[in-house]
Amino acid sequence: MTEPGPRVVLLGKQGAGKGTQAVRVAEHYGVRHLATGDFFRAAARDRTPLGLEAKQYFDRGELIPDEIVIAVVREQIGADERALVQEGFVLDGFPRTRHQAEQLDVVLDGDGLDVVVNLDVPTEVVLARIAGRRVCVQCGTNYHVDNPPKDPWWCDVCGGHVVQRDDDTEDAVMRRLELYEVQTLPVIQYYRRSGRLVNVGGEGDSDEVFAGLVAAIDARVDRS
Ligand code: AMP
Repeated sequence: MTEPGPRVVLLGKQGAGKGTQAVRVAEHYGVRHLATGDFFRAAARDRTPLGLEAKQYFDRGELIPDEIVIAVVREQIGADERALVQEGFVLDGFPRTRHQAEQLDVVLDGDGLDVVVNLDVPTEVVLARIAGRRVCVQCGTNYHVDNPPKDPWWCDVCGGHVVQRDDDTEDAVMRRLELYEVQTLPVIQYYRRSGRLVNVGGEGDSDEVFAGLVAAIDARVDRS
């Protein structure tokens, strides 16, 4: 029988590197990576009714209402709950409100999570990261003002134009970070109170941060 994988929630502000690290962690343990943001973006691209409704919120940088998100997660996890709980998973972008966190405990029957990792990066660092971020309009490759394409500002990968996203200006990022504080800090407190939270520093390079995450998860997962 294969070893069960860890059941992880990964939390972190925009620009903390959460998406990149969630993919690496899921690959490392061979578990499913469930990202609500990816799900809603794909639904919007496919122009499903749910996707079009969700798009109205994320285009404004707002959170999608809890009822919609919870229904989607229920559908994704609920149908497969036993397998997911046995095999492990990395949840990325969910939960984002305290109500979502409580509902996740209900869906997973209370004891489904091994560890909740808060990828911790100071606000001034994420501000600099995001405000300097540039993206190819054609293929989506990310650059940074400190790490531009060889021929500025034309993409190394596809030759497309590399620009700053409308929602990546310092003002817009500040607004998203304030929203994060208001809505997601209670999630951190919820998990801290129930003893499931660990903080991992997210300021180092990608390999250092990844090593810190794996060490924190391994320390919490006891399958013996
Ligand atoms: P992300 O890629 O995780 O930053 O998500 C992109 C957008 O999808 C967010 O700005 C929200 O509008 C929406 N979204 C994703 N996950 C959630 C969630 N758990 N609760 C509310 N909105 C979400």
